[in-house]
Amino acid sequence: MAKDRVLALSGGVGGAKLALGLGRVLPGDALTIVANTGDDFQHLGLSISPDLDTLLYTLGGLDNSATGWGQRDETWNFMTALKKLGGEAWFQLGDRDLATHVERTRRLAAGEPLSSIIDNFRNRFGIAARILPMSDDKVRTRVKTVEGWLDFQDYFVRQQCRPAISDITFAGAADATMLPGFRDALTDNSLRAIIVCPSNPFISIEPILAVPGVRSAIREAEVPVIAISPIIGGQAVKGPTAKMMKELGIEASAAAVARRYGDLIDAYVVDHADAESCANLGMTIVPAKALMETIEDREALARIALDAADQVMAAA
Ligand code: GDP
Repeated sequence: MAKDRVLALSGGVGGAKLALGLGRVLPGDALTIVANTGDDFQHLGLSISPDLDTLLYTLGGLDNSATGWGQRDETWNFMTALKKLGGEAWFQLGDRDLATHVERTRRLAAGEPLSSIIDNFRNRFGIAARILPMSDDKVRTRVKTVEGWLDFQDYFVRQQCRPAISDITFAGAADATMLPGFRDALTDNSLRAIIVCPSNPFISIEPILAVPGVRSAIREAEVPVIAISPIIGGQAVKGPTAKMMKELGIEASAAAVARRYGDLIDAYVVDHADAESCANLGMTIVPAKALMETIEDREALARIALDAADQVMAAA
C-alpha cells in the first residue's frame, strides 16, 4: 500500500505556517493536523480555541498575515462598542472572528463535540486537510509565576508573557481521551510521516503529548517522526519560546528543543545557522532555511520535512 498519509502536530502561528505548506504539497486529503487545545478558554461567555482557529484561518486563506492570528480584512466594531461599555478589552476579538466563537459556543452548548464542530468549519472553509483537536475533553495549560499559577491566556495575552515562569501544567490532561480520529491516523497503514511542526514545544506540542496514549501511539506507529525547530539562531521567530526556555533553566537553542523531544523524533530540521550546534544530537539533522517568510518557503520546508521522513524510512 502506498504510504501517502501525513500527520502533523501543531500549535498556532508557527505550526500553521508549516501546516499550510504541507497542505499545499500533499495531495488532496492526505494531511491530518492535530492541534493543541491547551490554550482554549472561556471569555465573555464564549468558547475560544486559538490554535484551532489559527489553523482554520490559515489553511482556509482567511488569515491575517500581519498579526499571525485572527482574520484578514477584520473590523473591530464589537471591540470598540465593548470598550465604550467598560467591558473586558484585553483579548482582541474582531467582528468576523467573533462569529467563529459564537457559533462554536452555540454548538458546544447544544452538545456537539469540538472535533465535529471543527470538522464542519474546515469543510465550510474549503480545507481539504483534516483538522482535529488533540481531545474533545477540556485540557487547560497553566503556568507558574511569581504571582502564583496563572491561566494561560491571562499570562499570554493579558500579561503579554511578562511574568517569569517556573513551571507549566496541563490541567485535565491525565483524564483526557485521545480522539478516535487521532488514533486512527496513527495506526493507518498508509501513514508516511509524523511531523512535529515548528511550534512552541512547552505550550503547543507538549499538551498534545500529555494526552494519555499519544506518546505510546506515536512510538508504536513505527513511522518516521520529523520535528522542525521553532528556534533559529537562539531566537524564537515570534512569541515567548526562547524567553520561556531561559526561565525554565533550559538553554534557548535549536539543540535544546531536540533534546526535549528526545527519542520521540528520528530527524530534526534546523536552520543552516543551527546545523553545527545540532551535529552531535544522535539523530539525523537536516539543515534548511527554517524561516518561512513566503508561501514558497512554507512549501519548501514542508517538502524537506517529508523528504527527511522518506530518507529515515529508506535507511531503516
Ligand atoms: P502559538 O500557539 O500561536 O504560540 O504558535 P506555535 O506554538 O505554533 O508557534 C510559535 C513558535 O513558532 C515560536 O517558537 C516561533 O519561533 C515559531 N515560528 C514562527 N514562525 C516560524 C518560522 O517561520 N520558522 C520556524 N522554524 N519557526 C517559526
